[in-house]
Amino acid sequence: MPTHPLRDLTIIGGGPTGLFAQFYAGMRGASAQIVDALPELGGQLTALYPEKYIFDVAGYPKVLAKDLVKALTEQASQFHQDTGLPAHLGKRIVGLEEEDGHFVLETETDRFPTKAVVIAAGIGAFSPRRLPQAFAGEWYGRGVHALVSNPDAFRDRDVLIIGGGDSAFDWCAQLRERAKSVTLIHRSDRFRAHAATVQEVHAAAAVGDGRVNVFTFHELDAIHGGEHITGVTLKDVKTKATRAMPCDVILPMLGYVSDLGTLLDWGLNIEKDEILVTTQMETGRPGIYAAGDITTYPGKLKLIAAGFSEAAIAVNQAVHHIYPEKKVAPGHSSNLAIFGQKDD
Ligand SMILES: Cc1cc2nc3c(=O)[nH]c(=O)nc-3n(C[C@H](O)[C@H](O)[C@H](O)COP(=O)(O)OP(=O)(O)OC[C@H]3O[C@@H](n4cnc5c(N)ncnc54)[C@H](O)[C@@H]3O)c2cc1C
Repeated sequence: MPTHPLRDLTIIGGGPTGLFAQFYAGMRGASAQIVDALPELGGQLTALYPEKYIFDVAGYPKVLAKDLVKALTEQASQFHQDTGLPAHLGKRIVGLEEEDGHFVLETETDRFPTKAVVIAAGIGAFSPRRLPQAFAGEWYGRGVHALVSNPDAFRDRDVLIIGGGDSAFDWCAQLRERAKSVTLIHRSDRFRAHAATVQEVHAAAAVGDGRVNVFTFHELDAIHGGEHITGVTLKDVKTKATRAMPCDVILPMLGYVSDLGTLLDWGLNIEKDEILVTTQMETGRPGIYAAGDITTYPGKLKLIAAGFSEAAIAVNQAVHHIYPEKKVAPGHSSNLAIFGQKDD
């Protein structure tokens, strides 16, 4: 199992909180790395709502979730111009050891020695819920997409979206201008999505030109094709009637399964599957700090803005913990030599 070089800080999670923590570590001159279970940075913003606007991030009247991730990545990368952002993606932390006076975080394949840890693991390591039909398994990667990272890849394609929640309707609304056709199927006629988006999709379907279709009480009955999907058969769950239609892309929007895994067994202060932190973002185990959605304390807000503040507190505390001679207070970035300013 490869062992990576010892770092000052390892940040579990590359969502907005983890990305800002990575920036802050760089600003404080600490060596840091992100480890994330997902294949891309951005946490919930990338996995759940990349194309949605966010309106309550300070300084942005509105910003697309994917653009906020891009800006956070750029901000964090400025200290790593030559090597690129030290982020280990597609690696889920499953273990924590102590060795030679420091921690070692472990994934299934790698070991990450680190002097301190910032847990920015959000709602846990999450993976998209897979299609329940056994026949669907072999079509993943051949037309079934667990995640949508590049909606432009579906331009001029026949897209089938399965689900009745926000993601299903959001993607239906987002893709309807780009795709050749978008069909949304759901096993019932009750939707858990924002009413305005449901209305928008139904209005588009009512045009009747076949570019947007909504079939309630329908499920996926079969997938057809060779190398790649070329069609599907849908079944009406009430009448059992089937219909075949051309299809290149299937997007199962069935929610996510999230799992905090072994984090809960690390001797941290846990309250209802969240990490109870102090005002210094301490977790109950010296050297391990937490920030973002995974934390709880009286008055906690599960918002990006709160995660940014907690990341700054956690990293400054961690830096002081590792190097007691370094102050907790970082000073004003507008005065820091690291940004080429006059250091006072
Ligand atoms: C549809 C939707 C809309 C939203 N809109 C807004 C909004 O308008 N404004 C707002 O402020 N907030 C909004 N939020 C909430 C916001 O997205 C969260 O508050 C934010 O993502 C929390 O950031 P985080 O970095 O703490 O956690 P996350 O974004 O959840 O990131 C955590 C990361 O940790 C990784 N991870 C977890 N466990 C492990 C492990 N064991 N090993 C490795 N990696 C691990 C995960 O893979 C994930 O990438 C919205 C959320 C949703 C779902």
